Amino acid sequence: MKLTVLAFGAHPDDTELGCSGTLAALTSQGYEAGVIDLTRGEMGSRGSTELRKKEAEAAAKIIGLKVRENLGLPDTELVNSRENQLPIIKMLRKYKPDICLLPPLVDRHPDHGDAARLIKDAIFYSGLVKIETKSKNGTIQEPHRPGQVLHYMIDTHFEPDFVFDISDTIYIKEKAIHAFSSQFDVKDPGDEPQTHVSDPAFFEMLRARAKQFGHKGGFEYGEPFLISEKPFAAKSLDFLISS
Ligand SMILES: [Zn+2]
Repeated sequence: MKLTVLAFGAHPDDTELGCSGTLAALTSQGYEAGVIDLTRGEMGSRGSTELRKKEAEAAAKIIGLKVRENLGLPDTELVNSRENQLPIIKMLRKYKPDICLLPPLVDRHPDHGDAARLIKDAIFYSGLVKIETKSKNGTIQEPHRPGQVLHYMIDTHFEPDFVFDISDTIYIKEKAIHAFSSQFDVKDPGDEPQTHVSDPAFFEMLRARAKQFGHKGGFEYGEPFLISEKPFAAKSLDFLISS
């Protein structure tokens, strides 16, 4: 299966926070999009891995994703090793995306930057023919690199290279975030700790931030992106920027 856009997250829910408005807008226009979660989020303070798996599947349906896979890499230990790069390379060669959306290189949670560096290196090595990988049925995979690599925003602010118009999909984004009911906008924390992101104030901040960046881009709501400093081919972003 070939995907136009493949988004990666360190934890299930990273892509919902950073780029689900963009993904929903693209899927509604007929583009094929998928998400790869690197870890099961087993070190999270709230919820269980089983619950977050169900939440991730529900969010994928809301966004209209064709694919959502979890690589089961160790949460809080995203070491940039060949062992951890290989399952990412397999996903890149399997889905052959034109564009990859990655977590930010610098963020409050160290896993987000670790994930971004790990995936960026995997994207480079995915283009090397001598790094051999096999698909599940045993056939050797072809090398593949996406034409463009972008970083989305999760928590720490950055000055974006461009803002994607999510005015029509902000409510889909918020519904997808609400699918992770163990993690966000938790009004009654129960027996588990309230966290930086579970506090309803964080959810309110997300809406305000979408409004702020939307205003910057001339839209009602927007999602900010940084273009990776080394795009691998001259794949045009026009369809993203002008839509
Ligand atoms: Zn995260």
